[in-house]
Amino acid sequence: MTPTAVDVLVVGGGATGAAAAYDLARRGVRVLLVEQSDLSTGTSGRYHGLLHSGGRYAVGDPGTAAECITENRILRHIAPFAIEDTGGLFVATPDDPADHPARWVDACRAAGIDIDALTPAQARAQEPALTPHITAAYRVPDAACDSFDLVHGFVEAMRALCAHSTLCGDLLAYHRVIRLVTNDNSVVGAEVENVRTGDRQVIHAACVLNAAGPWAGMVAGLSGITVKVKLDRGTMVAMNTRWVNTIINRLRPADDGDIIVPVGTVAVLGTTSVTTNRPGDHHVENWEVSKILGEADAVIPGIRQGRALRAWAGVRPLYEPPDIDHGDTSGHGVQRRFAVIDHRVRDQLGGLVTVVGGKLTTCRLMAEEAVNVVCDQLGVDTPCTTAAEPLPLPAFRQQYHRLDHRLRKLEHGQLPGQLICECELVTRPQIEAAIAGYGDHPVALDDLRRDLRLGMGPCQSGFCSVRAAGILHEVKEHSNLKVTRALKDFVDERFRGVKPLLWGHQLRQLYLDELIYRRTLGLDRLIAPTPEERLDS
Ligand SMILES: Cc1cc2nc3c(=O)[nH]c(=O)nc-3n(C[C@H](O)[C@H](O)[C@H](O)COP(=O)(O)OP(=O)(O)OC[C@H]3O[C@@H](n4cnc5c(N)ncnc54)[C@H](O)[C@@H]3O)c2cc1C
Repeated sequence: MTPTAVDVLVVGGGATGAAAAYDLARRGVRVLLVEQSDLSTGTSGRYHGLLHSGGRYAVGDPGTAAECITENRILRHIAPFAIEDTGGLFVATPDDPADHPARWVDACRAAGIDIDALTPAQARAQEPALTPHITAAYRVPDAACDSFDLVHGFVEAMRALCAHSTLCGDLLAYHRVIRLVTNDNSVVGAEVENVRTGDRQVIHAACVLNAAGPWAGMVAGLSGITVKVKLDRGTMVAMNTRWVNTIINRLRPADDGDIIVPVGTVAVLGTTSVTTNRPGDHHVENWEVSKILGEADAVIPGIRQGRALRAWAGVRPLYEPPDIDHGDTSGHGVQRRFAVIDHRVRDQLGGLVTVVGGKLTTCRLMAEEAVNVVCDQLGVDTPCTTAAEPLPLPAFRQQYHRLDHRLRKLEHGQLPGQLICECELVTRPQIEAAIAGYGDHPVALDDLRRDLRLGMGPCQSGFCSVRAAGILHEVKEHSNLKVTRALKDFVDERFRGVKPLLWGHQLRQLYLDELIYRRTLGLDRLIAPTPEERLDS
């Protein structure tokens, strides 16, 4: 049952909103988290995967650098299940400004970031794939962070707290806030729409916390006020192996294609910075892919010829107070500090607080500061405690997924059942258990992808998705049409990420996948296209 009245309604199930909902529950506030899609499907699910040490911002944005290193230590302590401690290296090449390393070293020390100087030979001993032409190298405490695990960790912890008390703290997924309800000079709730059924309802709240990331300007606009969010699209490319086991950063002023993050079974290369005016602008341009591969190749020779699995984009919700003009129009130059806007003070509109900007690495701190303002409006004086106590291990999440873990289990007979996804070694019992974990809630193949990495390997769902759709059909007893639609949505989305990478193995793979799904199974013919699809074709 969705409550009709809560103390605080948090808009946005990304890292910031989830951390804020958890923080509110810890302070004894009745909270409802509303997300228009699934958890972590906004920018938080489309990011680069780096738990920043702060090194990237040390020279240009020292405040953010200091926040990153503090929060890096806190997240390692409270959410170790979401973090793979890869460590990080900053390396300079002969093409990079020669005076930058010295300035960077001073800036890191000032921000409190622990750095160790390595000789080029030591750096290459640690990461043999690095170019022999390194001119400087430093070790930093970067790490890889799985945003799905982190966000689910916050939400499950919120629910667990509320299960043991009379508090209400829950998630309303697939519901969009379409109207903020106002009374005199205050926001007193929101109208939400179930995006699957179209049903609408009003939820009363003493305060609404707007944590809608790139959509924060639109949500604030529902009450007639303006929050200017600078939308900055960035592209990433996943390679089919890790290439390195340490995060590699280019030691130069922030630019396109500076970072390589080994995450699970892949290496993620990125990113770019392109101004956009759409929060959901996820298109990828060919020049971005070429640029990213070229820059990575300067640090790891040969990577450009490797097999690229997938390209995708996310939109950074950057915030600049209106009075700042730094002259640099690219997103790389914009500060990553976040803002908490108390609309009671700024716009004389009570009951509404916006939090925007920042990094995934600083989401807990953003939540803390936003919740402080919310609590001030509510008259709650319980202090924040989210930095101290570790989150419980989320139920359906494992320690970060490594293919070799599953391979070892498979070889020792500990992974019983039919193999459904050969690339990521996902079995039928794992899929059935994941579906069961959703109870009566609807399950999409994309949920199984996020839970199990189904379809994320080299064939990009070529062989597994039709099998997984069959299991979904059996277990959930969905109609043929519903399952076929789910399969088509999933396959279309996987293919979209491969289309910018059509050369070599991935071109052959996509052609094979097209033959399987469109020619042999006739997936397109089984489903009448929607009006938008008809327009597209
Ligand atoms: C290319 C790229 C690379 C990045 N790399 C890194 C990195 O390596 N490390 C790092 O620390 N940070 C990185 N970032 C930044 C980081 O990803 C973001 O700062 C962070 O994810 C923002 O989280 P959020 O919760 O504020 O926004 P989001 O994750 O976008 O969450 C907002 C949510 O609000 C929901 N929503 C919107 N409107 C409504 C509505 N009306 N009703 C209900 N729900 C609504 C959306 O669906 C969305 O899920 C990167 C960003 C990009 C784009």
